[in-house]
Amino acid sequence: AKEQGRNNMQYFTAALNAAAEERLAMERELRVALDDSQFELHYQPQFATAAGATAHPCGVEALIRWHHPQRGLIAPARFIPVAEECGLIEAIGDWALNEACRCFAAWKSAAINPARVAVNLSAHQLRNPSLPERVGTLMERHGLGAGELELEITESVAMADPAAAVETLERLRALGVTLAIDDFGTGYSSLAYLKRLPIQVLKLDREFVGDIESDPSDAQICAATFTLAHSLGLEVVAEGVETEAQRAFLASHRCDKLQGYLLGRPQPAEYWEKCWRSKASA
Ligand code: C2E
Ligand code: CA
Ligand code: CA
Ligand code: CA
Repeated sequence: AKEQGRNNMQYFTAALNAAAEERLAMERELRVALDDSQFELHYQPQFATAAGATAHPCGVEALIRWHHPQRGLIAPARFIPVAEECGLIEAIGDWALNEACRCFAAWKSAAINPARVAVNLSAHQLRNPSLPERVGTLMERHGLGAGELELEITESVAMADPAAAVETLERLRALGVTLAIDDFGTGYSSLAYLKRLPIQVLKLDREFVGDIESDPSDAQICAATFTLAHSLGLEVVAEGVETEAQRAFLASHRCDKLQGYLLGRPQPAEYWEKCWRSKASA
């Protein structure tokens, strides 16, 4: 048994070393990626629930992609956590903010813009007190007005240091930024507590949306969330809408906006430009 234990130990040590090395390698590669513009934003549309997918989107969410020259497309779930740990998330996050604003400005000047662009923020970005200033500079540079930029933060990020978060979020609000709570329902905070934050939008996590049809208690949670959110003056966006049945349920429970593969997958800016242009001229 002792021998077995030692073997396990060696195995774990080797596995840990391999993981640490892989992380270090990724950290190096992330720095190169920033310098070499290997990142790209894809955009996923949001639609007013009543409007349906043939309408013009009421907003888009920017989702980052990494085109690795050897390893191909790397999903954010794989590299964002590494970027957070090694302190590169600020630089990557700044890049994403600037790129989303630049792209939105181009759509605006071509008069094919969705009403709003949403960008995801990580914990580190929110913790930096200079964030509102930098966001203000970007909005000015690209000519974004009130209501045109939305920032998404997760519950856990907002609740980690609520007092500091409130101050930063209030300064962002003063710039006319819309604030959304992402992945709502996966954390442990109550809506009443969240409402102390100056937020306008709740994004219901796709875990709940996915189970609406099969799990009566998830359906109940969704319905109750909409009622409470509306009574607090919040708009609700359902994430991960994949089926007509989900759409019908969400519509009948007065969910404000829908986002998901049923209505549109994340796609590069050029894809949407073509799509919106051809609709506009039709
Ligand atoms: P998220 O903010 O919750 O984004 C929604 C994720 O769900 C996206 O995955 C999107 O592609 C996926 N999705 C959308 N509709 C559906 C659907 O109908 N079904 C299913 N199964 N999935 C759907 P993605 O693009 O891989 O992004 C994963 C996460 O990475 C995001 O989750 C967000 O937390 C993070 N992320 C993405 N871009 C950025 C960024 O620029 N900065 C930061 N800090 N995080 C980002
Ligand atoms: Ca998001
Ligand atoms: Ca989400
Ligand atoms: Ca998520």
